[in-house]
Amino acid sequence: MSRATPRTPAVEVEPPRFDRPEVEIRASTRRTKTGSAHWSGSRIVVQVPARLRGRERRAFVDELVARLLAQRPQHAAGDGALEDRCRELAARYTDGVAPASVRWTGSQTTRWASCSPDTREIRVSTRLRQCPAWVIDAVLVHELAHLIEADHSPAFHEIANRFPRQRDAEVYLEGYALGLGLASEADAGLD
Ligand SMILES: [Zn+2]
Repeated sequence: MSRATPRTPAVEVEPPRFDRPEVEIRASTRRTKTGSAHWSGSRIVVQVPARLRGRERRAFVDELVARLLAQRPQHAAGDGALEDRCRELAARYTDGVAPASVRWTGSQTTRWASCSPDTREIRVSTRLRQCPAWVIDAVLVHELAHLIEADHSPAFHEIANRFPRQRDAEVYLEGYALGLGLASEADAGLD
């Protein structure tokens, strides 16, 4: 039985998602335990031990990508995809009432996201990039609801809660804030 060691590692490219840019995964036979991730233009290149397969490999890649995004979120990466996602959610939950623009921002220190009623701009903290997609969806629907109702009124909640896991997302984010060492819920809330 002969089994040649591949000279070049197998490469796989995942298309960009709304919560992260394009990811190139290189399976390396030279790596046994550790992985690495770095930016290459607007793409993230991840090296993973070739022995990792399936769910184990997926979790490994997700962790490395999340860590890199937390370390140095590339401001522009994923803005277009985030905006596309927000428009999909608007069509589904807010009768198509949509923002003027949606952007990731690294400058929000105490808020997960914000919505400016005047300019109709939605800004989402890059810290949420590490959260599951459904949590970011919930945050986007919350901000979309503010385009219709400025305050946290019963009418506002009626719209925001059209997203089925809105309450789950709030609980998740409360825990996430604690994990980040943010002082209290009041310091890290949804605006
Ligand atoms: Zn709000």
